[in-house]
Amino acid sequence: MINKERILNLFFELVRIDSPSLQEKEVAVCLHKKMEERGYTVTEDKAGELSGGNTGNLIVHVPATGEGTPIAFSAHMDCVHPCHGVEPIVEGDLVRSKGDTVLGGDDKAGIAMAIEALNHLEDESIPHPDVYFVFSICEESGMHGAKNIDTSLLPAKDIIILDSGGKVGSIVVAAPAKAGIMMNFIGKSAHAGIAPEEGVSAIQIAAEAVSKMNLLRIDESTTANLGHIEGGSVTNIVADSVSLTAEARSLHDEVLNKQLEHMESCCADAVKKIGGSYKFEYEISYPALHVPEDSTVLAKVEQACINIGLDPERGPTGGGSDANVLYGKGYNAVTLGIGMSKVHTTDEFIKMESLTRGAELVAEIMKS
Ligand SMILES: [Zn+2]
Repeated sequence: MINKERILNLFFELVRIDSPSLQEKEVAVCLHKKMEERGYTVTEDKAGELSGGNTGNLIVHVPATGEGTPIAFSAHMDCVHPCHGVEPIVEGDLVRSKGDTVLGGDDKAGIAMAIEALNHLEDESIPHPDVYFVFSICEESGMHGAKNIDTSLLPAKDIIILDSGGKVGSIVVAAPAKAGIMMNFIGKSAHAGIAPEEGVSAIQIAAEAVSKMNLLRIDESTTANLGHIEGGSVTNIVADSVSLTAEARSLHDEVLNKQLEHMESCCADAVKKIGGSYKFEYEISYPALHVPEDSTVLAKVEQACINIGLDPERGPTGGGSDANVLYGKGYNAVTLGIGMSKVHTTDEFIKMESLTRGAELVAEIMKS
């Protein structure tokens, strides 16, 4: 059986360790020690050095005790702010923070489930194939752990990411690609009172471009948003520069490209109408994720849900995660709901039952 007290103790131990993005060393040291004491091979990759963090991703290899395809489970070690001095409290069936920090169940609940699942299999001598754990860094701030992972340390092709907010039994089968966009509008400065006709207002170019852009909800799988605008100086000078940052997301890479083309063409049209020039640059932060209908790892997860009396529920998500990045690197990535709720707020909580059911599900997927 899943040991409720043991998983709760481990979870509490982990959330009490401060681990903002790129500062995960203390929690990494704790996990490294725990895994090595049990005789598993633990390797820290170079993702920390490559992304400016104080530790890399930890990749743990638990040798097979039975048959089956090697499988990996991943959860990230970092938390969003405010996450210093987390004091977890139990309230009925809920675990939450004292209220002045996040709980850090995102994603330490995932780590605790993975380890407790393995404890359970070992307690009962239930055989399992080669199992890998990936405890990643910096998921919350650009997924730099996953982006810089040393894939030679992770030969398992099937990877289960324990990092979604849905209830235990929910399975993320699609997640959008995201583009970060930077727009610059360049006008020409002139004295606003004496010679305004010699100027080109960058603010007017930006306004013209933005007024023509399709934004926010584009279609059921595509969104776009302007995040920050900056430019101009004083009222008696025609503004010669405006910069704008934005993002666009879509479950379909080709629709995302169309949205980017549309946004750029609004900039081009504005310059044609008002004058001046523009720069439109973007970077695809991560690709869209699609779990194919006939995915064997999806079938395995759904069967495991049924085996333990859960109703598997497939669905898309609006956010990206390590799963998108690992999928982009060729892994069969499936993300599971682990029951964490109100994440990224000081009201974050997780039900005790989610912790234990999550661990039970992971154990069921893990076994041969
Ligand atoms: Zn997370």
